[in-house]
Amino acid sequence: MLPGVSELEELYQEVILDHSRRPRNFGDLADAAVLVHGDNPACGDEIHLGVRFGEGGTLQDIKFTGRGCAISQASASLMTTKLKGKSPAEVTEMLRAFHELVTTDRNDAPKTLGDLRAMQGVRKFPQRVKCAMLPWRAVEQALQQNEGESTVSTEEPEFA
Ligand code: ZN
Repeated sequence: MLPGVSELEELYQEVILDHSRRPRNFGDLADAAVLVHGDNPACGDEIHLGVRFGEGGTLQDIKFTGRGCAISQASASLMTTKLKGKSPAEVTEMLRAFHELVTTDRNDAPKTLGDLRAMQGVRKFPQRVKCAMLPWRAVEQALQQNEGESTVSTEEPEFA
């Protein structure tokens, strides 16, 4: 028997709660090449993302610290579990697919998103989209700069 829609929603809720209570890849990345501070003043969320790159710009290791709402912290945790070992092109594609998942009403999210699909429910709450996207904008920035430290904020006009 396939679970019904409400059962699926509960299942997704469980994933978000689990990741917000027991975030994966949480901590400082000692030898990070890039450190990006993500700031969402609208909700009070902070994400500090450390990335180390391998051959061909692969995300060899990725860890985060932060504080804020369950959505922002769960989104960061889920993201790190999916992005470790991915190439820049794969990260960019997943970012695009995730953005579509949380901002459109399409229901054909690629299976490669896996547990990230738990975040689909935020599309009903525009303010929550910023929470969910915050870690992704941080990793996007990390890919762009390759080394050093910077800050991204949801208050920047291009943020969505
Ligand atoms: Zn938030």
